[in-house]
Amino acid sequence: MELTKNLLGQRVFEKLMKMTFYGQFVAGEDHNSIKPLIQKNQSFGVGAVLDYSVEEDLTQEEAEKKEMDSCVSEAEKESPGTDHREKKYKAHRQFGDRRGGVISARTYFYADEAKCDNQMETFINCIKASGGASSDGFSAIKMTALGRPQFLLQFSEVLVKWRQFFHFLAAQQGKSDMSALEKILELEQLKENLAQLGVGAKDDIENWFTGEKLGSSGTIDLLDWNSLITDTTKISNLLMVPNVETGQLEPLLSTFTAEEESQMKRMLQRVDILAKHAVENGVRLMVDAEQTYFQPAISRLTLEMQRKFNREKPVIFNTYQCYLKEAYDNVTLDVELSRREGWYFGAKLVRGAYMYQERARAQEIGYEDPINPDYEATNRMYHNLNQSHLLCCLKANVMVATHNEDTVKFTLEKMNEMSLSPVENKVYFGQLLGMCDQISFPLGQAGFPVYKYVPYGPVNEVIPYLSRRAQENRGFMKGSQRERSLLWKELRRRLVGGQVFYRPVY
Ligand SMILES: Cc1cc2nc3c(=O)[nH]c(=O)nc-3n(C[C@H](O)[C@H](O)[C@H](O)COP(=O)(O)OP(=O)(O)OC[C@H]3O[C@@H](n4cnc5c(N)ncnc54)[C@H](O)[C@@H]3O)c2cc1C
Repeated sequence: MELTKNLLGQRVFEKLMKMTFYGQFVAGEDHNSIKPLIQKNQSFGVGAVLDYSVEEDLTQEEAEKKEMDSCVSEAEKESPGTDHREKKYKAHRQFGDRRGGVISARTYFYADEAKCDNQMETFINCIKASGGASSDGFSAIKMTALGRPQFLLQFSEVLVKWRQFFHFLAAQQGKSDMSALEKILELEQLKENLAQLGVGAKDDIENWFTGEKLGSSGTIDLLDWNSLITDTTKISNLLMVPNVETGQLEPLLSTFTAEEESQMKRMLQRVDILAKHAVENGVRLMVDAEQTYFQPAISRLTLEMQRKFNREKPVIFNTYQCYLKEAYDNVTLDVELSRREGWYFGAKLVRGAYMYQERARAQEIGYEDPINPDYEATNRMYHNLNQSHLLCCLKANVMVATHNEDTVKFTLEKMNEMSLSPVENKVYFGQLLGMCDQISFPLGQAGFPVYKYVPYGPVNEVIPYLSRRAQENRGFMKGSQRERSLLWKELRRRLVGGQVFYRPVY
């Protein structure tokens, strides 16, 4: 492509890209030029999840530097090695370039707060464009675009440590073999266990159970436990972790600078602003899932938005990656929380895009591989969650986002068995623009809610992401062989039948 650009010049190069590579996978340069494509797809019953897809063309060194600068706190820089951090939730230079080994996902690197504000503005424009283009659109966002990733790493670690502490206490009550939701701890016994650990005598920990929600039933489950870290006001308090040895809550890091404190606040504010724009424009907001060292925080922030904005209808959608060993627990816990609190659960179910990177990182840094042992296990997880938890939950709306025909067929069969009609709008399907049209268009024409992830953005700024996607995903692109043979078949059918043009009957 570099050669073509140099030989033909920028203008001809852009034209050529629009006629081929870019034209196949990207809808257009801005929210106006994408309208015809969106309307055309809509006439076939296929909706859009707008996804502004610009990615910086950084070298590996530049990406690594940006990552290390934005993931290490001032306290860590001043006295390295003195914190209580786990290696999974720290940045490692050799994995600083998060673009490696990823299937079709854009990657953002932090530069400064002004850039995050710009990215938020871009997302707002995307939401407005989505509202303007159709009455039932989606917009996709990535949390890593909205703030310093250091906060996502640290908050993820806190959430995971709290969860681990709960499982540790559950094991003391002989409940280690149960699923996360089945672990219901007796409060009195819990206090005794904490006392044995030397925790109970401390006021700090005693006060955990005096809140309104806790302690009245005499039992505590993981959802009650998680709520212990909801009701705090000062944001750095969110980054407190229980220390079993001293019996006190202690900060993950010794200090936060005022600047870090305000960066965290600004990230939360940006998320909140986007959710408000989504509500105002009648657009649903899809929060993409990312790497496992960010994902607990991303998921938790999304859940907080769902609590706030999904009261009347599902506006905010979280993403669950079924390649994760913990996917089952993640989904069941969040579904149960939404049921208890009475809000609409919105979810996109995917297999997961970061497998190679996750595996390599876990192996090299030295922690447990978070991914299922094999593809079949991921499939079982996908089908099991899809069937048992999401389709059955009254207030759940789920997007089955996959290019796998068997999964789509499986979902349709389950919907049929459960007498779920397509027009109930409980189950949506999702594919990427330019891929698997043989799945999306028949679904749309049959009246099922189906959406394309629609990337858009200027040619030069989208090409880095697109070419990376092509280079790294030769296997992924193999799927297009089937599409090509289907297209030839259809072409032959039309030529023989004399029906060259096709008008949708939707
Ligand atoms: C509309 C849409 C939105 C998406 N949004 C996101 C998102 O927000 N976050 C995200 O992470 N991904 C996202 N993806 C990508 C998705 O996670 C998958 O990477 C991609 O769709 C391929 O999976 P599949 O189900 O389509 O196809 P399949 O070919 O059936 O599955 C391939 C996937 O299976 C899993 N897998 C493969 N081999 C193994 C193995 N040995 N062990 C365990 N698991 C294995 C991997 O996840 C792999 O990507 C999205 C995809 C679509 C279509």
